[in-house]
Amino acid sequence: MSPISLHRRDALVGMAAAALTPTTAGLSTFGLGATFAPVPARAKTRRYDLRPVEVAAGVWMIEGAREVFAPANGGAIVNIVLLETRQGAVVIDTGSTLGMGAEIRAFADDRLGGVATVVNTHHHPDHWFGNGAFADRQIVALPQTAAACAQYGQDFAASLYAILGPWMSGTSPLPASGTTEAGEARIGGRALRLLALSGHTQADLAILDQDSGTLIAGDLLFLDRAPSLPDADYGIWLKALDRLAQLQPSGTVPGHGGFHRSSAALAQTRAYLEATRARLTQAADLGLAPIEAMSAGPAPAFAALGANPEEYLRSVIHRWADHETEALPLVGGL
Ligand SMILES: [Zn+2]
Repeated sequence: MSPISLHRRDALVGMAAAALTPTTAGLSTFGLGATFAPVPARAKTRRYDLRPVEVAAGVWMIEGAREVFAPANGGAIVNIVLLETRQGAVVIDTGSTLGMGAEIRAFADDRLGGVATVVNTHHHPDHWFGNGAFADRQIVALPQTAAACAQYGQDFAASLYAILGPWMSGTSPLPASGTTEAGEARIGGRALRLLALSGHTQADLAILDQDSGTLIAGDLLFLDRAPSLPDADYGIWLKALDRLAQLQPSGTVPGHGGFHRSSAALAQTRAYLEATRARLTQAADLGLAPIEAMSAGPAPAFAALGANPEEYLRSVIHRWADHETEALPLVGGL
């Protein structure tokens, strides 16, 4: 074996081992392998000045920046939806911080008659770390989501305090206390269809608002923002996209990216998953080390998406073992 291949092998083994450590798994939403010490919150209050927009009848959307977590955005990188009902709002996801959740809550209380219930689409912290502002209301999620929130909440908090600093003031993980499941639901006169899917994570809830025909897709769909793959299973996610395609909604709110009435997010998310899977499979087939695959960068067609190249780098770090297992032959009949 040449010195170069030894070097590559060492790098590959090191990366694969790092991806399997509990600490790294817990931080997978951020894709940061380093361990962070929490930064004490400061008393200074920061405001997001969130601007909900009614994108369909009774469907209010707060659109997040198409970026990764950063002090400049305070974690406001995720889409939030509030559905108007006669009993108050159905709040779908609560943002990255207590402050963000509090602003969402204030809008629901001031404009939508309060909060009927809160739903968390999946366990990534930008979707539920604002739950603390709804501690007096019912908060539900799929059972696997609630369990994952409890399991990874403290690790997520450590990372977010390190990245967002004072934006995180007062924030502590509050996993959903109730569970929900696939099926039809009626809340305050509003008919919803809940779809229990997976692929982006082990449990991804999508919601079809039957009254307006709007699909609230959670992170199963991204638009003009690189999909987040650290917890992804490509094959299962692609099957979930097939299910969403059958719904033919009148409009779609992706987890990240703009509201739209076409199938743009569906097509773009599918193309991104297929291209990234092919790119990393090819890299593994070529015997590249993860660091070399990272250096190659995202597929050119997706290099300009929001949150790239950061998301692509996270994909290599967290999904490399899958591709390596596929690419490398078993030795000695083991
Ligand atoms: Zn996510």
